[in-house]
Amino acid sequence: MKTLDDLLAEGVTGRRVLVRADLNVPLDGETITDDGRVRASLPTITRLAEAGARVVVAAHLGRPKGAPEAKYSLAPVAARLGELLGREVALATDVVGESAKATVAGLADGGVALLENVRFDARETSKDAAERDALATEFAALADAFVSDGFGVVHRKQASVYEVAAKLPAYAGGLVLAEVEVLRTLTGDPARPYVVVLGGSKVSDKLAVIESLLPKVDAILVGGGMCFTFLAAEGLGVGDSLLEAEMIDTCKRLLAEHPEKILLPADVVIADAFSADANTHTVLAANIREGWKGLDIGPITVERYREVIAGAGTVFWNGPMGVFELAPFAEGTRGVAEAIVAADAFSVVGGGDSAAAVRLLGLPEDGFSHISTGGGASLEFLEGKDLPGVSTLEG
Ligand code: ADP
Ligand code: MG
Repeated sequence: MKTLDDLLAEGVTGRRVLVRADLNVPLDGETITDDGRVRASLPTITRLAEAGARVVVAAHLGRPKGAPEAKYSLAPVAARLGELLGREVALATDVVGESAKATVAGLADGGVALLENVRFDARETSKDAAERDALATEFAALADAFVSDGFGVVHRKQASVYEVAAKLPAYAGGLVLAEVEVLRTLTGDPARPYVVVLGGSKVSDKLAVIESLLPKVDAILVGGGMCFTFLAAEGLGVGDSLLEAEMIDTCKRLLAEHPEKILLPADVVIADAFSADANTHTVLAANIREGWKGLDIGPITVERYREVIAGAGTVFWNGPMGVFELAPFAEGTRGVAEAIVAADAFSVVGGGDSAAAVRLLGLPEDGFSHISTGGGASLEFLEGKDLPGVSTLEG
């Protein structure tokens, strides 16, 4: 796999380098509520710009339906990127059109431009490989080399991730390289006990991960919205909590196959509404009331999970333990995250919301060995799936 270092060694002065970054930040209107991904993209962009490259950044934001939509414009991201880089970032008003061409043509050596949201072009995510290929050809015409630095998208076969890498000399950016290296430690020979903390909203998204991880790990601590499908599989009533009824049988089977490895909450925080000023109670998992929903794990559970985490050699955490965005339901996530920070373990956080939780709850980012910028990508890697955006770089 050729890397950014190889490209810099070749010399980049005056060369146009297309960098696929992951700048998919959470926005509140036009305000970026967590700029972690923008910050994570800085080292690669800075090294290229300082070496005299003309840097063309491509990225997506949200899920526009293949056409421009003001609320998914990368304008706030261009502004933030410019602030953090300490240099102006020119934003093209289209993806590969006249504005993109003119913006790139206007770049000086060491200049940085951002193309508009690549998902404004329906071909980016098209199921038709020929369409993606056509867009990739247009991306390739804007640059002389390609650096893949958006780890959060390397599990996608998309024009700016996958097809374009075959059309230009392609290199792994520092971020992709670092991510792959860390995740290989987890799939290789992780220090034991290997503890996985899984939460988040959808059990169906994560069951495949649980299946493939169960034989390799020593314990899986379950929290978040997904724990209720497991609790239902144990025969408990879950009130109005998130429930994926069609997954109950699978959860039952997993619990039967690995009763000692899967840990479920003993207590939960229930609320009568999905809101920060809802009425709440902390109850045993067996006592979730009809009409109430579980929005966090309770203190007994946090304590139990803390003990397991304290003894771990390796911890992988994906998915918040509760609705951490609302203060009354943030304590489970905080408790588990603090336990990971305190543990003397190699610790990896994967998942956009989990990483955002670390920052929003004010936990020290350097308390974790690695915070992955790619939720889906890190999970697919751990499942043992091929990441097209990485294997294409391996040639
Ligand atoms: P990640 O991005 O880290 O992979 P997910 O996207 O799977 O995590 O899930 C994050 C979301 O899960 C958060 O927005 C959080 O509010 C939500 N969540 C956590 N616990 C619950 C719960 N008990 N009920 C509903 N939503 C929950
Ligand atoms: Mg998420």
